[in-house]
Amino acid sequence: MSYELSGWTEPTLEENLIKAGFDRRDFLKYCGELAAVFAVGGAVIGSATPATAASVPAEVIAEKLGAVKKPLVVWLQLQECTGCMESTLRSGGTTIEDAVLRLLSVEYNELVMPAAGDAANKALDDANAQPHLLVVNGSIPVKDGGIYCTIGGKSAEQVLRESAKNATGILAVGACAVWGSVQASKPNPTGAVGVDAIITDKAVVNVAGCPPIGEVITATVAYVLTHGSLPKLDAQGRPLFAYDQRIHDSCQRRAHFDAGQFVRSFDDDGARNGWCLYEVGCKGPSTFAACPIIKWNKGTSWPIQAGHPCLGCTEKNFFDNYTPFYQTLPNVGGFGVESTAEAIGLGVVGIAAAGVALHAGATAVKQAASRRAAEGNEPLQAFGDSERVWLPNPKKVEVAPEAPAAETTDDSEKAE
Ligand code: SF4
Ligand code: SF4
Repeated sequence: MSYELSGWTEPTLEENLIKAGFDRRDFLKYCGELAAVFAVGGAVIGSATPATAASVPAEVIAEKLGAVKKPLVVWLQLQECTGCMESTLRSGGTTIEDAVLRLLSVEYNELVMPAAGDAANKALDDANAQPHLLVVNGSIPVKDGGIYCTIGGKSAEQVLRESAKNATGILAVGACAVWGSVQASKPNPTGAVGVDAIITDKAVVNVAGCPPIGEVITATVAYVLTHGSLPKLDAQGRPLFAYDQRIHDSCQRRAHFDAGQFVRSFDDDGARNGWCLYEVGCKGPSTFAACPIIKWNKGTSWPIQAGHPCLGCTEKNFFDNYTPFYQTLPNVGGFGVESTAEAIGLGVVGIAAAGVALHAGATAVKQAASRRAAEGNEPLQAFGDSERVWLPNPKKVEVAPEAPAAETTDDSEKAE
């Protein structure tokens, strides 16, 4: 559908969306998608029972997100390549998500704001003076007085410290902001560090990846807005709802890993047949990310599906620890329940049956899910480590009385 935004003219987000041409049904559907990403809502396929008792249904998210007053967001871009903002701008598959992103107007962002020079500096000063959500792309070079990245005559460290002062939440988005990324790899000539090395008196949410998936970035922003608090984080400060899932546990090539069927060069028969990429350097067994489930480019594909090994871009220090990228590195961990790739491969080559291999993969996933449950972590249905979660059936979603639910032909119904 088409819509027409005239900026934030109404008090709340939902009112602005309705003014732009969306109806409550569109908004509820969008919130259902968000609920699935948060893994706290929706219905389990094949089951009449709603999701867990601790879940938050789409209607509650709609109520909270709809009532959001115009939030103030400062989005800094420090020592980086603009890839994370590119990923953000290309996130989402629904028109309404585009509209929400545009409505959550960012008061300051060097890449996309029309203002420049003094006007841009003033916009930043004005926003910094009020409580705001701070999003940071890029690392902070601290060597030589910070001369390697300056904005408006200030070092990146100064800019960050000033913006962090009144921030009610801080998101470090992308490997550069999380730990420094390629510019921080040895010998780190500019002394690049991540946000949480500078800001130590406030929690920093690390949205890891090079770049992170756009939907994960926007979901984290939406989580903070709808929950009024930061999501649960893992030991590296990453939101658990998006990073408690090993690539290897949801990988579509996993059956071939379990069957000992490995690509040995990028032009061999194994490559043509979609076999496992471990022997050409895949770091999926030691990488936590939602790539196999959310995928990229609006769910079109992801690196391993396209035939490229995972480089481990969501893991700290991956440029130093995971290179050479196209080699198997014996010291890179990640195998627990499965022993080693070599042992598995030798054990099952010749007797590989896809059904057995698939079962082994499923077992590993179930074990990972039980471990998470035992540890009290949030379920991750949306990211594939449990039963698949589908959006709520629109027929079951309450809509305004004057807008009766129309017949639907969406995929969730077909699947049921
Ligand atoms: S090693 Fe990589 S390609 Fe192979 S199953 Fe694991 S994640 Fe997939
Ligand atoms: S597949 Fe691996 S390297 Fe590629 S984007 Fe996902 S986590 Fe990063």
